[in-house]
Amino acid sequence: MRMLTPKKILKEVFGYDQFRPNQLEVIEHTLSGQDSIVIMPTGGGKSICYQVPALIFGKMTIVVSPLISLMKDQVDALTANGVKCAYINSTLGEVDRRVILDQAMSNQLDLLYLSPETFVHFYDQWIHQLPISLVAIDEAHCVSSWGHDFRPEYRQIKAIREKCPNIPFVALTATADKLTRRDIQEQLGLQTPELFLSSFNRPNLSLAVRSQIPKKKKQVEILNFIRSRQDESGIVYCLSRKECESWSDFLNDNGISSRFYHAGMSAESRDAVQEGFIEDAYQVICATIAFGMGIDKPNVRWVIHNNLPKNVEGYYQEIGRAGRDGLPSDTILYYNYRDVVLLNDFIKDSPNKDVYQEKIKRMLHYAEASSCRRIVLLSYFGEHNLQNCGNCDICKNPPDFIDGKIIAQKALSAAHRSGQAVGINLLINVLRGAQTMELFERNLHKIKTYGVGSEYSFAEWQHFINQLINLGIMEIAYDQKLHLKITSLGEEVLKSNVEVKLSLPVDKKTETKKKTPAKGPKPSSEIVDKLKTFRKELASKNRVPAYVIFNDATLEDLLLKRPKNLMELVDVHGMGKVKIERFGQELLDILSQEESAPTKKLSTTEETFLLYEKGLNLEQMANERKVSEPTIVNHLIKLYEEKKKVDLFRYISEYEVNQVKEVRQKLKGTHQLKPVYDALKGNIDYNKISMAYAILDQYEY
Ligand code: ADP
Ligand code: ZN
Repeated sequence: MRMLTPKKILKEVFGYDQFRPNQLEVIEHTLSGQDSIVIMPTGGGKSICYQVPALIFGKMTIVVSPLISLMKDQVDALTANGVKCAYINSTLGEVDRRVILDQAMSNQLDLLYLSPETFVHFYDQWIHQLPISLVAIDEAHCVSSWGHDFRPEYRQIKAIREKCPNIPFVALTATADKLTRRDIQEQLGLQTPELFLSSFNRPNLSLAVRSQIPKKKKQVEILNFIRSRQDESGIVYCLSRKECESWSDFLNDNGISSRFYHAGMSAESRDAVQEGFIEDAYQVICATIAFGMGIDKPNVRWVIHNNLPKNVEGYYQEIGRAGRDGLPSDTILYYNYRDVVLLNDFIKDSPNKDVYQEKIKRMLHYAEASSCRRIVLLSYFGEHNLQNCGNCDICKNPPDFIDGKIIAQKALSAAHRSGQAVGINLLINVLRGAQTMELFERNLHKIKTYGVGSEYSFAEWQHFINQLINLGIMEIAYDQKLHLKITSLGEEVLKSNVEVKLSLPVDKKTETKKKTPAKGPKPSSEIVDKLKTFRKELASKNRVPAYVIFNDATLEDLLLKRPKNLMELVDVHGMGKVKIERFGQELLDILSQEESAPTKKLSTTEETFLLYEKGLNLEQMANERKVSEPTIVNHLIKLYEEKKKVDLFRYISEYEVNQVKEVRQKLKGTHQLKPVYDALKGNIDYNKISMAYAILDQYEY
């Protein structure tokens, strides 16, 4: 037996300095010859748990894995680290199979990956003759008929377990629920296995929720978000196939390389899209939840949900596809009440309707939380007593609570006087005394509460009403055109002195990108490009995905540590011996080419923003910046759309916005300025019309 410690292997082969929680414990337990069940979240590092023992035991480790695409990825990644391994599954030709079998028989492999079919069907024929030290059962939840990934072959593993009592087994999964856990324990026939249950917390994933954002505004937000993350891979999850396609078109039209993915496509097209994403040929995938299973791309930097997911389990799994390499990654969930209608619609004929409904409710509860989201999320998975995470939108921007009784009473009374027959937007317009066609046509301007809430903006009212719904004071009648109804609690609030605490809207500044602050000099994009190009070339030469050569965590560490020689390269994350030998010198050469980076100048828009903050008017800003007023207006609109704190109502009144709106509606929603200008007989100038358009496009009011 080789005299290697787990720690040494981790460093020399994988290039990592430290074990993650539970990894070393599992490895030691396995090395002592006992069975284990390992439950770790996606990206937690399950593979290391059997790969390290595989390199310490004198004989081979069998890995049973149901996902053929993952098998190849794993073997590629291990081979890049100089580990001797192979896989046998149905995609392999007879000749290759022979070669691998020979290698296995003569103990030349450290790991052999098998599909469950191969493992159970050929165990008695030839597998039992192989020199085996350890059997790892990956995706062990497939043994359970409770989940949707049930694989009948997994049930036959039990018989095999009994035939080789002296070989340790380790079963691994990311599925945490109790029923599945019990099934794994019972159905795999493990011998008094030790359970290693990791926390499901993924602190590197930021959590954010955006509620009730109109479509146009959402498009602008998402576009800006992706643009601020050049070249960073991400997934947009949508409820419907049609939405996947339209989002993908929208992104492509705006210069972002994107593909859609859903179950309505042929298997070949789906594979091609998946491949292209893994190889970074496409930056974004717009997909239904059909996408992701069997994808082990470590550098997915963000996940956006375009709609409310149908349950928390699914949501957690989907956001979990981001940041598997442990680097900071962002997740944003967009939802509006229409999603809830749709989801409820999907399940209305299901025999398990009640259960599904409850799950949707829990999901909504998360989306509408006004305390740390991670606490809400993890408590759903049975992990309690956590501290505020500091990496969710609520922690970063905690709401202030105020006495909201009057606000609640105004909203309730407006709903009451409108016959409880108006939706959120119309109710807000009533409260704010807006002058819209619909409102006049329905005579809502004549009710007593018309205009009693004009001190709050439209967005502020949205925020308040969401909370009233959350608190059970109002409810949305999903079956009656989303009209707002007053609940019995709402009746009490209207009539008596019930306390109502509401949070003030937090000023949602542009979600600044969270990255660990770089300690060294800021890398020029040139050096990053060079390293990436090098990686891409080497990857295509070896026909593996780029991250197999080195991943983004390694890239960052290279830039941070700036190794000058091979010795220093050893300290870089992910650089094991074999990788250093193979291309370490080339990396050093690239790094040594870099000159000092120039300091970044403020963009012209940012300069305008500084003047805006000083309170200058349009004319003053134009003079100061020596540009025209329309240019300044363009800057302000850009800032407004990017959600910087720019308030366009400094330059235009609400009355004027409404005038523009009505005229524009008559002109079939034109995007041109002149017709509206003319129709208003020059009473509202071009600058104001541009700003009104920007406002109208953000809020559907
Ligand atoms: P899982 O199978 O649990 O989803 P993986 O085994 O694929 O996760 O590991 C996720 C990522 O984390 C991989 O890129 C892996 O190389 C990396 N990783 C695993 N353990 C460590 C560690 N101790 N230090 C640094 N990176 C690690
Ligand atoms: Zn938090």
